[in-house]
Amino acid sequence: MGRLAQTDGLTEIQRDILATVRDFVDKEIIPVATELEHKDEYPTAIVEGMKQLGLFGLTIPEEFGGLGESLLTYALVVEEIARGWMSVSGIVNTHFIVAHMINAHGTQEQKEYFLPRMAAGEIRGAFSMSEPGLGSDVAAISTKGVKDGDEYVLNGQKMWLTNGGTSTLVAVLCKTDEGGSTPYKNMTTFLIEKTPGFGPNPTVPGLTVPGKIEKMGYKGVDTTELVLQDVRIPANRVLGGVTGKGFYQMMDGVEVGRVNVAARGCGVARRAFELGISYAQQRSTFGKKICEHQAIQFKLAEMATKVEAAHQMMVMAARKKDSGERNDLEAGMAKYLASEYCKEVVEDSFRIHGGYGFSKEYEIERLYREAPMLLIGEGTAEIQKMIVGRRLLEEYRLAE
Ligand SMILES: Cc1cc2nc3c(=O)[nH]c(=O)nc-3n(C[C@H](O)[C@H](O)[C@H](O)COP(=O)(O)OP(=O)(O)OC[C@H]3O[C@@H](n4cnc5c(N)ncnc54)[C@H](O)[C@@H]3O)c2cc1C
Repeated sequence: MGRLAQTDGLTEIQRDILATVRDFVDKEIIPVATELEHKDEYPTAIVEGMKQLGLFGLTIPEEFGGLGESLLTYALVVEEIARGWMSVSGIVNTHFIVAHMINAHGTQEQKEYFLPRMAAGEIRGAFSMSEPGLGSDVAAISTKGVKDGDEYVLNGQKMWLTNGGTSTLVAVLCKTDEGGSTPYKNMTTFLIEKTPGFGPNPTVPGLTVPGKIEKMGYKGVDTTELVLQDVRIPANRVLGGVTGKGFYQMMDGVEVGRVNVAARGCGVARRAFELGISYAQQRSTFGKKICEHQAIQFKLAEMATKVEAAHQMMVMAARKKDSGERNDLEAGMAKYLASEYCKEVVEDSFRIHGGYGFSKEYEIERLYREAPMLLIGEGTAEIQKMIVGRRLLEEYRLAE
């Protein structure tokens, strides 16, 4: 492990977990990632390995069978996994968000029913806010849940579900219109259990996962639509048991998800730096190694500075949340900075590779197609800046 992206003040347990994950990434993920990604193949063996390491239950409390670790531990694990292959971190992330939402907002029955099996990786979570007509503007959702006796009847179409096919539990945000005073208070999260796979779901009448969306990168992990036609869900599968709280529950999930996306950016950027500094010491032009040209050294210096800065900001945002403080400002900043820096570091590494960076034989080609997703997922750069800007005006408001 190199000098960059170190984290001060970790416990022995955190250091042990990270060493184990780093070893797993070097041995089980990096050697196969590019080949699986090019084939758009789901990494079944890697997922089994992560189950055995207990990674699906990393943050689930010990009383529900998890390891009870902090957001910081989780983020550092994600950074290591993304260094190996970003898609694998995507497989854990929606699971982690749904487990966080159930743990923070679920009824006791929901926690006891879902969390132990989520910790074991038997139930795997996906989360669904976006629709074909909206992503940033969550208040505009049109998928609807209408009460009918002890059940809700759900109708609508969802878009961009990471793990939409492979998951067995989807947290779905719907409009419920049960008298809330604003659109935000008329949304509800439903916990829908389903069988994995594509097409009409055999266990949930009316639920269809049409198929995988073809993407430029972030392959291997499935991203799907979700169609709901008169899907009947028992009222006890409303997250937290009370309607009208869905928007706030989802935003809480997205907030921890943002630290996670920042961590992914850190991991991908670190790998791009490693590839760049290694290649720069092997390739010669004009009679010397390219790393001896000052222009390339400057590039490496800029890349390393960005890797370090993004890591430290991501760690700060995770620690803020772990301390119980509001961290929307820091999470927004970390996500914005880490995703932008990741794109820049990957591009510089790609340039250092010259023509070979364009070849599918070189890992940087995959990273180049992966980095842009981080600019969009869990809220675009513009949305992060809106959040950060609003919070700054709260903090620095002039006295009237
Ligand atoms: C690979 C992938 C996986 C995803 N996984 C999930 C998932 O698991 N679950 C889920 O719910 N969603 C998921 N998403 C959806 C993702 O969260 C949205 O794509 C994202 O929030 C942006 O929404 P949009 O695509 O509708 O863009 P839009 O909201 O239509 O935005 C388009 C452009 O306008 C800008 N913009 C929008 N509003 C403003 C404003 N007020 N001011 C200035 N600029 C603005 C945006 O920044 C962007 O540049 C995923 C997306 C991708 C690509």
